[in-house]
Amino acid sequence: MDAQNAMSRLISLCKRRGFVFQSSEIYGGLKSAYDYGPLGVELKRNIASIWWRDMVSKRENVYGLDASIMMHPKVWQASGHLDNFSDPLVDCLNCKERFRADKVTKQTPGTAIEYVDYSSGKKGKMLPGVVPEAGYCCPNCNSPHLSPERQFHGMFKTTMGAVDPMGDFIEHVQNKSLSKEELRAKLAKLMERSTAYLRPETAQAMFVQFLNVQQTMSAKIPFGIAQIGKSFRNEIIVEHYIFRSCEFEQMEMEFFCEPGEEGKWLEYWKQERLGWYRKYANSGDKFRLREHAADELAHYSNGCFDVEYRYPWGWDELEGIASRTDYDLRQHAAASGAKLSYFDQQKQDPKTGKQGWRYVPYVIEPAAGLTRSVLAFLLDAYTVEELSDGKGGTKTRDVLKIHPQLAPYKVSALPLVRKDGQPELAAALAEDCRNSGLPGTCDMNQSIGKRYAKHDEIGTPFCVTVDGQTAEDGKVTVRDRDSTEQVRMDSTRVVAYLHERLDKSLTE
Ligand code: ATP
Repeated sequence: MDAQNAMSRLISLCKRRGFVFQSSEIYGGLKSAYDYGPLGVELKRNIASIWWRDMVSKRENVYGLDASIMMHPKVWQASGHLDNFSDPLVDCLNCKERFRADKVTKQTPGTAIEYVDYSSGKKGKMLPGVVPEAGYCCPNCNSPHLSPERQFHGMFKTTMGAVDPMGDFIEHVQNKSLSKEELRAKLAKLMERSTAYLRPETAQAMFVQFLNVQQTMSAKIPFGIAQIGKSFRNEIIVEHYIFRSCEFEQMEMEFFCEPGEEGKWLEYWKQERLGWYRKYANSGDKFRLREHAADELAHYSNGCFDVEYRYPWGWDELEGIASRTDYDLRQHAAASGAKLSYFDQQKQDPKTGKQGWRYVPYVIEPAAGLTRSVLAFLLDAYTVEELSDGKGGTKTRDVLKIHPQLAPYKVSALPLVRKDGQPELAAALAEDCRNSGLPGTCDMNQSIGKRYAKHDEIGTPFCVTVDGQTAEDGKVTVRDRDSTEQVRMDSTRVVAYLHERLDKSLTE
């Protein structure tokens, strides 16, 4: 099965089995907005809590934060987002596709090309052309006939407080003859008082709260501040299902270190983060690090790596790990007047040679996408196996070989038949599992084969079958999702056995 086919089968599985739904579906859907259904929300929460466990709870020097989505507008001025958080938007004059100039493949201007003609209405007719000065063609039809680049701002604006800027605006301009520019300037002035932004990243709150966290926790450098939360970007192109959407979730950490030590910590965090994905994935080789070229780096950054995943459309970003120098703290210190620095009594000031050194910490930022991780882990887990049908032919088995720690349900208890006390025994077993912290169901509908198939598809690592013998000998069958191997054991042993297997999955 090719990768594109796997992607469309996975999307269909996600809808059919309750992982991801289109937002506002009964109203025709909202483009690029998605809702996580009963199983999707469990998977997403599992990824988030494992990230939190591995990045925060297990570390003595990383502290959590849960900041508000709307922040003081000056935050976005100081961070540079108001001036720079925009993407170059281009319209294709041939096929009318809209795209980001910074995301298309660069070509040498003047090179001869062919593109699909959309103007004649003849399907598939090719026309000759040359790569224009801009150094790229339309990614959809390869046409060189493109609009100039326009900057498109990526932050969502909203108004805050009980104000009605529109009412004020009408009052101000009514019966006045104003030019377009004057009207625009008036509206902008009136809006300014109440404008707020939805955060386009979770990172800035960690810089803004640097002092509060450092002082309340008596944190010693190096230390990190981490948070998980929603971010919003008015993306020009929303693409590849949940890969790029306007509302998404991030898992970010700002790691503050001594100036001069950022190279060591960048190296440390890039290995940690790559290792983290590989630990919970089946195909570790589908995750890699890509170093940013010098012309990709932000002006303040002195090194950046992406963790990339091999999606069906090719290698693409999953997480960025950037060395941001002291840029963010300096920007916020200058704009707010707060002293965003750190004093180390044990160190000598390298400039004066005196005991005690005050400096602005440098920062390494591992910035991961939570919703993008859901997609990467689903793609990594989704497998179609060809099996013998026992009659000389073959049949396929769709199985989500998701890491047991990430799986929405850890277990399902299945009575072989819906009689002879089997449903009650299975329900009691499922309840024991849930009470011991193993999310699980008791599934009674359809044939046992169909129930196994369903749990394979949703990635339940273990099914426990209660059969006619169980009432007599107290034994049940535990089936392993990946190997389909079955082991018979006393039903009283099941909970402990499943916990052992889950613990083992962390070290395997
Ligand atoms: P891209 O180049 O794909 O637009 P980016 O470099 O702008 O991403 P960052 O600002 O570094 O992304 O954000 C960190 C992470 O947040 C990304 O690696 C990605 O996993 C996630 N992310 C960013 N934008 C989106 C989005 N629109 N939808 C889903 N996840 C996103």
